[in-house]
Amino acid sequence: MAGRATGVGLEGITGVLVEVQVERADGLPGLDMTGLPATSIREAKHRVRAAIGAAGYLWPRERVVVNFAPADVPKTGTGYDLPLAAALLEQGGQIPKGALQDAVLCGELGLEGGVQPSRGAISAALAAQRAGKRRLFVASESSVEAAAVPGLQVIGLSHLVELVEHLHGRHPLPCQEPRDGGSSRSPDKGLGWVRGQPLARRAIEIAAAGGHNLLMFGPPGCGKTLLARAMADLLPPMSLEERLEVTCIQSISGLRSEGGLALRRPFRAPHASASNAALVGGGNPPCPGEVTLAHHGVLFLDETPEFSRAALEALRAPLEDRHVMISRSGRRVRFPASFSLVCAMNPCPCGYAGDPSKDCRCTSLQIERYVRRLSGPLMDRIDLHVRLDPVNPERLLSNEQPEDTEVAYERVARTRALQMARNELGGRARPNASLDLAGLQRWAPLDAESRRFLIHASRRIGMSARAFHRVIRVARTVADLAGAIDIGRAHLAEAITYRALDRMSESAHARSSEWGSGRNLQMTSTEAL
Ligand SMILES: [Zn+2]
Repeated sequence: MAGRATGVGLEGITGVLVEVQVERADGLPGLDMTGLPATSIREAKHRVRAAIGAAGYLWPRERVVVNFAPADVPKTGTGYDLPLAAALLEQGGQIPKGALQDAVLCGELGLEGGVQPSRGAISAALAAQRAGKRRLFVASESSVEAAAVPGLQVIGLSHLVELVEHLHGRHPLPCQEPRDGGSSRSPDKGLGWVRGQPLARRAIEIAAAGGHNLLMFGPPGCGKTLLARAMADLLPPMSLEERLEVTCIQSISGLRSEGGLALRRPFRAPHASASNAALVGGGNPPCPGEVTLAHHGVLFLDETPEFSRAALEALRAPLEDRHVMISRSGRRVRFPASFSLVCAMNPCPCGYAGDPSKDCRCTSLQIERYVRRLSGPLMDRIDLHVRLDPVNPERLLSNEQPEDTEVAYERVARTRALQMARNELGGRARPNASLDLAGLQRWAPLDAESRRFLIHASRRIGMSARAFHRVIRVARTVADLAGAIDIGRAHLAEAITYRALDRMSESAHARSSEWGSGRNLQMTSTEAL
């Protein structure tokens, strides 16, 4: 007699169905495995044997071969315990023949027969749904998460005996009801905590609306982290597809705390000492890094110049391609990584350049080196630079009521929806930040007067060609926020104010070459800002 059960493997964040086939073989009693099982699966033999015994069922008294098909995909993880046990029980005639034909099983078995959750239950559910399977058996802890996938009966198990009794129809188990947490709006309104900083508030709104990357610089303690968090909360609500993707990533990374689908857009703030693998992903089997954990949300690099050059360089590919590829043992695994980048830095190494109440003792050379650490690929991807003011204690204690976060949130959502309806080519809609040159010509044309204004302004502050296009992209978002069809001078003028670092580095460069490097640059950087 043969046994068959379907399990799930992971390719990146995507589940891939794997059939566990058990056949009788000639020879002394024993169990052979084929189909590229990893060590964790070879060890499953001992776990599953103990679990089957503890549950009161029989282990095969003959020689059996277990094949994991397709045979050319490497199998890792502990989620194959449950389908392996089921296939062995079917082979031994202990569960009804063919009872698992329309089902997928995923779970780890303890030595006592208990079913424990394995990572990626929602990826398993999506794979089962795509393949047209009707039922999914998972550990009861994972059942709420998996039940978020529509069109699939999810049955939670806490012990192997429950599966067998259910399949015999003696003690049928209920299906897990889908439990949706309601709207995808996060409950806390980050922007409501921000006092003062009107320029920065406006910049994060523009960044959130147009999908732009943002750089904030200002003295320590002026609220950079708070603003970056507020930006994640200000982003438009996630679609069902986005929520499913975020949940898959969190599930395979072991980060799910609540059941159901992810509600909030992710906010990730890796430390400057994070390794490249932690940042962009790595390991064997490959695990997602911070760029993937920030997918559809915000990746915040506080003290960006403190990150190693190699780490910042590693961000180039995900910023460009919106995914990362990791090669392991001849296979390439793809992880999505589409995030908004928010960088923060001090204006100089000591942090007080331009602060009227503190003394900055950094030399122009030190400041230049500090700013230059951001140069190249990273800066090329950042549309908005905004300078934050030192915190004013009077403002902290004042009762001034800034605009309600909800109003800004609605405006961002409306503006983003407008872009996605307009900026569409070949069935692919994109936010303003992703417009290429052709897209800018089509959706962000400038009339003769605006063009003259921009050329004049760019000459005056020494703007590069790249910066020129960034200004137009941001101006498009500013115009969209105002509900304007055409980009006008006022929109361009506002966009130019968010190129502060261009002016600062241009100025630092000019001054340092004029006067040499030993001069205190506090005054010049103040002027430049
Ligand atoms: Zn300084």
